[in-house]
Amino acid sequence: MQSFPTPEVWPGSAAGKTIGVLTSGGDAQGMNAALRAAVRTALFAGARPYAIMEGYQGMIDGGDGIRPFAWEDAAGILNRGGTVIGTFRSKEFETRPGMLTAAANLVNRGIDRLVVIGGDGSLTGLNQFATQWPSLLDELAAAQRITTEQRAAHPRLAFAGLVGSIDNDMVGTDTTIGADSALHRIQEAIDAISSTAASHQRCFVVEVMGRNCGYLALSAAVSGGCDYVLVPELPPADGWEQAMCEQLHRSRAAGRKESIVILAEGARTRSGDPISAEHVRATIESTLHEDTRVTILGHVQRGGTPSVYDRWAPTWLGYEAATYLLNSTSDEPGVVFGFRGENVIRVPLVQAVADTRSVPELIAKGRYDEVLALRGNEFQALARIFCEVSDPRQTVAAAGPRIAVMHAGALSPGMNIAAKTAVWLGISRGYTMVGVQDGFLGLAAGNMAELTWKDVDGWNQAGGAVLGTRRHIPEIEELYAISRSLEENHIAGLLVIGGWNAYESVELINNERSRYPGLQIPILCVPAAIDNNLPSTAMSIGADTALNVVVDCIDKVKMSASASQRCFVIETMGRDCGYLALMGGFAGGAEQVYLNETRITLEDLRADLTWVRNSFDHHGRSFFLAVRNECANPNYTTDVLARLFDEEGQGRYDTRTLTIGHIQQGGSPTPADRLLAIRLTDAAMTTVAEQISANDKVIYCVGSQGGDVVMTEINEAMKHVDSLHQRPSEEWWLPLKSVLDCVNRERA
Ligand code: ADP
Repeated sequence: MQSFPTPEVWPGSAAGKTIGVLTSGGDAQGMNAALRAAVRTALFAGARPYAIMEGYQGMIDGGDGIRPFAWEDAAGILNRGGTVIGTFRSKEFETRPGMLTAAANLVNRGIDRLVVIGGDGSLTGLNQFATQWPSLLDELAAAQRITTEQRAAHPRLAFAGLVGSIDNDMVGTDTTIGADSALHRIQEAIDAISSTAASHQRCFVVEVMGRNCGYLALSAAVSGGCDYVLVPELPPADGWEQAMCEQLHRSRAAGRKESIVILAEGARTRSGDPISAEHVRATIESTLHEDTRVTILGHVQRGGTPSVYDRWAPTWLGYEAATYLLNSTSDEPGVVFGFRGENVIRVPLVQAVADTRSVPELIAKGRYDEVLALRGNEFQALARIFCEVSDPRQTVAAAGPRIAVMHAGALSPGMNIAAKTAVWLGISRGYTMVGVQDGFLGLAAGNMAELTWKDVDGWNQAGGAVLGTRRHIPEIEELYAISRSLEENHIAGLLVIGGWNAYESVELINNERSRYPGLQIPILCVPAAIDNNLPSTAMSIGADTALNVVVDCIDKVKMSASASQRCFVIETMGRDCGYLALMGGFAGGAEQVYLNETRITLEDLRADLTWVRNSFDHHGRSFFLAVRNECANPNYTTDVLARLFDEEGQGRYDTRTLTIGHIQQGGSPTPADRLLAIRLTDAAMTTVAEQISANDKVIYCVGSQGGDVVMTEINEAMKHVDSLHQRPSEEWWLPLKSVLDCVNRERA
């Protein structure tokens, strides 16, 4: 893995260069976003982009199979599943004659830079093609299918791969294009099945995709609060059927009303025999005498509109890949672009493909530890957490130390699942778990009670916060009552799950606690805020859910405007933090975003108004969208901006506004938010427990940075905030504003 400074593109910097983009192998939601971004980045830089239709077959077919792609060709595709340029499994491309024709067709159009969006098979093909490129061109020149000048002008094929695979199976990157959307589909299905299963007290076996990779199955089992999972990387030991049934029985005895087993399609036993959904079903039914049904989700997992992650992440990757290739001059190796946490990384393509392709072999040889190492930290953590929370060996509070869990600050989707995870992990680790109602006000009033395993079952899906939350930040005078309450209830450790006000409250406690014995306990802040404005974490629980709401609204607004000439200004939440506005605009295809972080000047507005007018007059534009953060500017309100657009439009279009409002805080948490909540809470519970045993009392903020879970002391964390604006001093997503300008806003 290699981190790197983002190379830049600027208008005209790649004039005379030609780049091809294709999608190949299995389709995945988000491929269109990557295609769109690569094409538009090339156009922005003055290069000539071509789309190659139907995967590698289009290169062989030539003609209309390799099409110049204009700005408008990539319009209106961000929200579409599949791939608009088609995908195909070309056998011909695997042959030398096929590759020769493909190379000739590329050279004849001047294409010697290629972005391929596909799975490990497609990227293997890409590497073969690039390796053979010099000899292919020699042979073509010798056969006079290309000229010697053409041969000399294209000494090498520069190439970059983006992994399109719903399975999330590429070793070396955290996520692949399409996996998050597939997880959305699976989770919607599990949540739906869960309610019907609970009504009838039934068992369900749900089979999900994933031939050699159990990522979808494992993540869905964890985020869906399921009971048992079977994945290729963790084949069950002999006698697993009995063990599974005993575990399901324990869950029912503990109070669960349904049982859901998730099966990856490639799940096998340790002897390598495939495990079928029917076998699991029949085993449960005959052993537990429960009505058991099978649901095989199949291709719905590939379908549907891409999730927000599968819009902004592939857009960013497409931009990076095109930029890399357009700047590429020397003999740089082919690379795969992907993510490590919130960072774009590039890894050598040959290594990534070889590692990925070694997995089935390692599984066949029973070398599971090596397989798990290749799958990475998150997969291992999820597997460990699932084993712990899915088996209710202990369901009531043990006599161990008492740990309290509470919320504070504004509501954020995913707070419930964080609280539930704390309770289940705490009980499993021998602690007595106590739920505090209504934030710090409730804590001061001693409003708390013990929670059992059953009390919190079913909190995975629930939006809102069952424990209640308050924005209230305690005054110094209230600290005595809080301290007394903690002492009287014998609380040895505290988890505060919440947003900015939670962090400020805990910072106050940290500064004042030498005078209050009850406050001298380990305290952990778990970040939950739709604004994504908390320190020491790249992502807060709830932000992904809110962002999906924002982009869903944008999609609907665009549809509502499709029959007329419209200008829309949409307002998002976020207070002074522009995450929802920028990322919503980025993923929703907005032409402009107005943020508090980047000042709005009259000159900027004048430029926007002129651009919009020109665009409607000369470029056939029928819709313009700006997204404004609610606190972008006190004078240039959403209404003022709309009036400016309306006035300057002079009847070219109607102007409308939409304030999305509180639905951004509601709704069932997305898979990404559930998984983040679970991972961060697991780390928080481990740290609280370690501190209780060691008699330490440090206050930490848990967070996710670069794909790792990190702990930062509260004082250190609060050094890196802009407290006036209640946001981190550095925001990793802010540079995406210039990517938005490049891919969402056609140059006038
Ligand atoms: P995925 O990319 O989803 O893993 P496949 O394994 O089916 O899908 O590969 C897609 C296409 O990539 C193949 O149909 C073929 O055109 C090309 N390809 C795969 N492997 C090779 C190879 N070794 N040499 C040339 N082309 C290949």
